[in-house]
Amino acid sequence: EEARLLDSVSLLRADGMPVAFIPRDETNRRLVARGYGGALYVPSGAMLHPVRLVRHLAGESEARLLTHHRVAALQEAGGDVVLETPVRRIRAGQVVLALNAYLPQLVPALSPFVRPVRAQMLATEPAASRWLQVPVYSHEGYYYLRQLADGVVMLGGARHLHADEEQGYEDATTEALQADLLRYLHFHFPQARGLGVRHRWSGVMGFSPDHLPVVGAVPGLDGSVWAAGFTGHGMGFGFRFGRLLADVVLGTPHPDGLELFSVRRFPHAQTTRPSVPAGE
Ligand SMILES: Cc1cc2nc3c(=O)[nH]c(=O)nc-3n(C[C@H](O)[C@H](O)[C@H](O)COP(=O)(O)OP(=O)(O)OC[C@H]3O[C@@H](n4cnc5c(N)ncnc54)[C@H](O)[C@@H]3O)c2cc1C
Repeated sequence: EEARLLDSVSLLRADGMPVAFIPRDETNRRLVARGYGGALYVPSGAMLHPVRLVRHLAGESEARLLTHHRVAALQEAGGDVVLETPVRRIRAGQVVLALNAYLPQLVPALSPFVRPVRAQMLATEPAASRWLQVPVYSHEGYYYLRQLADGVVMLGGARHLHADEEQGYEDATTEALQADLLRYLHFHFPQARGLGVRHRWSGVMGFSPDHLPVVGAVPGLDGSVWAAGFTGHGMGFGFRFGRLLADVVLGTPHPDGLELFSVRRFPHAQTTRPSVPAGE
């Protein structure tokens, strides 16, 4: 992992990112931790509160948002799309499906491109001090944690130790994985040993076959598109994909990123016969 991180330093620097490799002792000193072998420090990394982010975007947007309208079916109707929901039927010129893991539930033909993988997390009660100022990923990203201003430690991951169980749509925590999270926390941060756990939760992520997000046309619905398969990294990719989807829907010629992320990079894309998204 250290060799790969060192490789990343040169690659990221070549892209103009001011990153640094921090050796073992300094890493553990700066994180008030033990057992880490070194770190790639990314000064532009950041933490955010996802619910506040979504509420903020909703507040700033001029779009009309219909919450609690789970789409049960999509149908082509005279060049339009009809969305069936338990509340009402909605007719639209085109649709953008941003369902990530849940995409195959609505459009089963797209199941080759996104599969559901569960992630579990926990939050401790507040610690007396805040020792962790930066978000931390370790073990190739299989563990991730951060500490909030009030001392609460939020920690997730350990999926690699329970690969078979952490597949599918069941949104639930398991005792065994949650115990592994605590083992990790207590090993690297002995100062957290007395902290109780206040919350445990899980969520379903959408994994793509090559772990990069995918954009494509909705089979049978001309002009409608989907983006999914963020593979646990949608908080960063999501903003970029918002722009990409807007470009595609508006018919912008050669949208930046479409070629890289198009579903057509997969040989089995042929089986779902997606038409070329508008604008490509
Ligand atoms: C525990 C956990 C920790 C994570 N940590 C990170 C992280 O640190 N950094 C990072 O980059 N990413 C992280 N992720 C991944 C990140 O949350 C996702 O990549 C991102 O949310 C994907 O965004 P999205 O909008 O495509 O899909 P989602 O956020 O999954 O949104 C899809 C929405 O579609 C709705 N929906 C589903 N079916 C229907 C339907 N039929 N009709 C209408 N609506 C429907 C769902 O209710 C949901 O609101 C984490 C995920 C989990 C579960």
